[in-house]
Amino acid sequence: MTTKELIKKAENTHLLSKDEIVKILKDEASSEDLFVAADMVRKKYVGDKVHLRALIEFSNICKNNCHYCGLRRDNKNIARYRMNEDTIYKLAEHAVKNMGFKTIVLQSGEDLFFDSDKLCSVIKRIKTLDTALTLSIGEKTLDEYKAYKQAGADRFLLRIETTDKNLYERYDPDMSWKTRIECIRNIGIAGMEIGSGVLVGLPEQTIESYADDILFFKKINADMIGIGPFIPHPDTPLKNAEGGKFDLALKVMALTRLLLPDINIPATTAMETLAPNGQTIALQSGANVIMPNVTLAQYRKHYELYPGKSSTNITADEGLKAVKDKIASIGREIATDYGFHQKKSC
Ligand code: SAH
Ligand code: SF4
Repeated sequence: MTTKELIKKAENTHLLSKDEIVKILKDEASSEDLFVAADMVRKKYVGDKVHLRALIEFSNICKNNCHYCGLRRDNKNIARYRMNEDTIYKLAEHAVKNMGFKTIVLQSGEDLFFDSDKLCSVIKRIKTLDTALTLSIGEKTLDEYKAYKQAGADRFLLRIETTDKNLYERYDPDMSWKTRIECIRNIGIAGMEIGSGVLVGLPEQTIESYADDILFFKKINADMIGIGPFIPHPDTPLKNAEGGKFDLALKVMALTRLLLPDINIPATTAMETLAPNGQTIALQSGANVIMPNVTLAQYRKHYELYPGKSSTNITADEGLKAVKDKIASIGREIATDYGFHQKKSC
């Protein structure tokens, strides 16, 4: 089959083999067809509404040392912070009551200060608000995931980062790829929606491994998948790496939409950082979610996963306005529901 025919097949059946995915990813001439197909599948399965999730980066303290990330424990060049429960709650309250968000996302480094009791206390307080709640706080035990769910957490984001086991263990020292997979499985067992995803553009990542990544998303029955181009941070071991290419990340994202047609897919901040209008382009190539940052500026500037993280120099209100303008500019609307994964038969 030609690449065009393969894209058509994926659009209609949502099935492709690894070799077929590789062929599409390698064929630069067919990128536009892929983006158009992903946009049509997005429209058919999840509609024109864009879900907004308010991102609160509540601690940048991390016990891990991921080679790609500016929050890694060996980076001594950032000021570390940790918000207290009241600050986290007040930010969430403002986001829900005054800004109209229907989902709060709590994200942090792997900060051991926030044990299960502390986290469950914050979760319960936030869930007194009219909102869904997502956590993105790293690897935990099944019992901890169950406790978060019981306290009211609805979803959990844990990217596999790459399904290439050797690369994963090279760039995430002291971490095991098997444990990562187990954690992702446990999120589902605990009853939360499973969010995962990968980086695109780590040194030595291959087209074949992106194909494995996409098939992995299908295998774990993901509810949400975020694809982020890797952006080198100057205070990390990967500072001299070339970094991810916007178009390739967009293609991996578009293929993810074709194969998992009804899931939630964010237009990631890293895409906006890498290309002007990156999020708008992503929304037109398969994405249906944006996660505006509502962290206070005094903290936000220190949550430097990668340099130039988009919107670090504007207020939460300005950021939300910019996102709303983007959505309106392409004739899309903001969703007013909680934005859970609505499974459709495909
Ligand atoms: N500590 C948690 C959540 C915070 S990190 C965790 O690791 O799961 C959130 C995401 O930021 C990571 O999953 C990773 O994919 C992304 N990230 C880290 N460093 C990055 C970089 N240099 N460029 C792009 N994305 C990066
Ligand atoms: Fe910590 Fe997450 Fe960064 Fe790894 S990616 S160093 S776990 S914040």
